[in-house]
Amino acid sequence: MNKEEFFMKYKNQRTFVLIKPDGVQRWLIGEILQHFEKKVLKIVAMKMIQAKEETIRAHYPMTDEAWLTRLGGKSLSGFDGLDINPKDFLWTDDALTIGKQVAESLIEYMLSGPCVIMVIEGLQAVEMVRKIVGHTLPNKADMGTIRADYSIDTPLIANVEARSIHNMIHASEIPEEAEQEIRLWFGEDANFLKYTRTDEKVAYAPDQRL
Ligand code: GDP
Repeated sequence: MNKEEFFMKYKNQRTFVLIKPDGVQRWLIGEILQHFEKKVLKIVAMKMIQAKEETIRAHYPMTDEAWLTRLGGKSLSGFDGLDINPKDFLWTDDALTIGKQVAESLIEYMLSGPCVIMVIEGLQAVEMVRKIVGHTLPNKADMGTIRADYSIDTPLIANVEARSIHNMIHASEIPEEAEQEIRLWFGEDANFLKYTRTDEKVAYAPDQRL
């Protein structure tokens, strides 16, 4: 790997972020952006869109049974430690079946209003942005993360109401996923702007004596 490839991979790494309809409708766009801006992460592309169903189906691995089973399992875990039988509320305790229902409710959620999509660039941005975003389930997210700061939604309530967890934001999980998602939402040959933030040099450049 040469130096330029190294910088693209780690220092100017790009990740995909999407503010979901509840984030937009709750007027949280500015607050969410601040979480990234204050960390000297750079927004290199951004637009507000109404997502298409086909894009959402391509974005989430809707036909991957392992992913659907994990989604269903996460939903079932909302009942852990409670004196409630999931079957009484979800009509089944089969993780795959529940996962399929949650996946369909996720599509309705993502179609319920405009989204803001963006590409964020910065130091090991994929991992850092996920950290700032927080755990999928707001009730389990650490305080100070976006998902915990603006929501207390839980899978127990969301699943019984047959809706997706409203957690305001999506961010890619790994670098390969980030590349795929950027291509999917911004197009194969999207061109991103290059510019320097005024604080970038102070934050990360080698120190120089006055
Ligand atoms: P993410 O990468 O952190 O967004 O998590 P996943 O890819 O596992 O889940 C995709 C989306 O499905 C989440 O962001 C939530 O909106 C929704 N979701 C995830 N788990 C659950 C769940 O247990 N119950 C419900 N109702 N929705 C969920």
